[in-house]
Amino acid sequence: MWLDSHCHLAAGEFDLDRAAVLDRAREAGVDAFIAIGSGYGIAGNARAVEMAAADPRVFATVGVHPHEAVDFDDEARRLLEDLIARPRVVAVGECGLDYHYMNSARDVQRGVFAEQAATARSRRMPASIHVRGDEPNAYEELLEIWLAETRREVEGVLHCYTGTLEFARRAIGAGFYLSFSGILTFKNDRGLREVAKALPLERLMIETDAPLLAPQGFRGKRNEPAHVGVVGETLAALHGRPAEEVARITSRNARALFRLDDV
Ligand SMILES: [Zn+2]
Ligand SMILES: [Zn+2]
Repeated sequence: MWLDSHCHLAAGEFDLDRAAVLDRAREAGVDAFIAIGSGYGIAGNARAVEMAAADPRVFATVGVHPHEAVDFDDEARRLLEDLIARPRVVAVGECGLDYHYMNSARDVQRGVFAEQAATARSRRMPASIHVRGDEPNAYEELLEIWLAETRREVEGVLHCYTGTLEFARRAIGAGFYLSFSGILTFKNDRGLREVAKALPLERLMIETDAPLLAPQGFRGKRNEPAHVGVVGETLAALHGRPAEEVARITSRNARALFRLDDV
């Protein structure tokens, strides 16, 4: 009944027990996964695509994480052009801007994100987008670049949303979905719960971002898709709705954005 809209199944952290991780997720009621290709080295994209080809519950994305923007050269560009055209690749990403860690210089991040947004538009694909920054700049610049490059011809999801309510509303107005991760369950993140509570479920998704961001009760451990229901139940409680209904709505949103029923 749950759908994990953003998880890094291809990450090395799952190399020893990937099949068991998927089995545990199924037992926990998770029946579909968006396996994010980027974030653990550009080469990791190939593994996400392979996993999607091998398992009907898994769908892949292909892209360049802002941390990896510095490594995006012509060889990587050719590799991704090949991978993105493969079967069961449903989105570009994750791509975006991260001015918190600054693992790649700001101009490099901006250039690569613009190119990824242009790819989304030219291929008519949605995007899974990462944005983080201590100042508002990352959010403002991300929105500006996305709208300039896509001209609103495609949509995206701002994954692991931790921004303000005001920006969330603007993002929804610009055609974005927002996805919440285990951070929504953290004891000290009451502010984020207030944001999630004020937003329409029709534009929300849930995710684990596994192997990172294990929810409350599992913190400090490796995260895995089996825990996505903890995020969903938290969202359901905030909205005063049954968990089953929130599972149905958030899964429907992800299926619509990523067009999973057309794959
Ligand atoms: Zn991310
Ligand atoms: Zn991620």
